[in-house]
Amino acid sequence: MAEELSCDESQIWILGQPLICRFCGHDVFMPYQTYRNVEEPGIDVYFMNYTAVCMECGYGTQFSDPSHFNPDGVYIWAFEQALHHPPEPEPPVIRVVDAETLQAEKRCLDLALQVLVKEGKVDEFILPLAEEEYYEQVLELLGQKKHKSTQEANAMTCLAVALSEIASYRLVDNEKILFIIEHESYPGIETFLEQHIK
Ligand SMILES: [Zn+2]
Repeated sequence: MAEELSCDESQIWILGQPLICRFCGHDVFMPYQTYRNVEEPGIDVYFMNYTAVCMECGYGTQFSDPSHFNPDGVYIWAFEQALHHPPEPEPPVIRVVDAETLQAEKRCLDLALQVLVKEGKVDEFILPLAEEEYYEQVLELLGQKKHKSTQEANAMTCLAVALSEIASYRLVDNEKILFIIEHESYPGIETFLEQHIK
């Protein structure tokens, strides 16, 4: 059941009944949300309707949303919709990296994070990024001691999660950070940091 009809070429059911064009009998429509001005309860009060335009003949069928609570207090959604051109699923972003590159990237991120923390960017960068939706996924990734998967999350996501981890656990050791930055730099770290710190 759908909360609202999306404006896509589709078949529509209202409380289980298929919507059929009264003019030509076809059942594929483009539903549009439309608004009806009603005099009660007051001037300029609008109710939302739908106008479903038949894809065969162009006849418009108007209806409202009859979703309601049944006597048992259960909300009954009125609409079902079957899209005729379902959206193509987004191809998963899969990047195959060799172990060496992966380690280097993680090191790069690690350095970036530590520098951010050192620079006192916690409030500015870390806390907002902790809301990233990939949190769990990447947390898992970063938590693995020996990485065997062929999938890698993008650098920004890793950064976001690692930042939030550092924020949570306050893994800050200034001397260690300086040592790492001075002795274990990774090519490209400066560019990366510039991009994400500024
Ligand atoms: Zn029609």
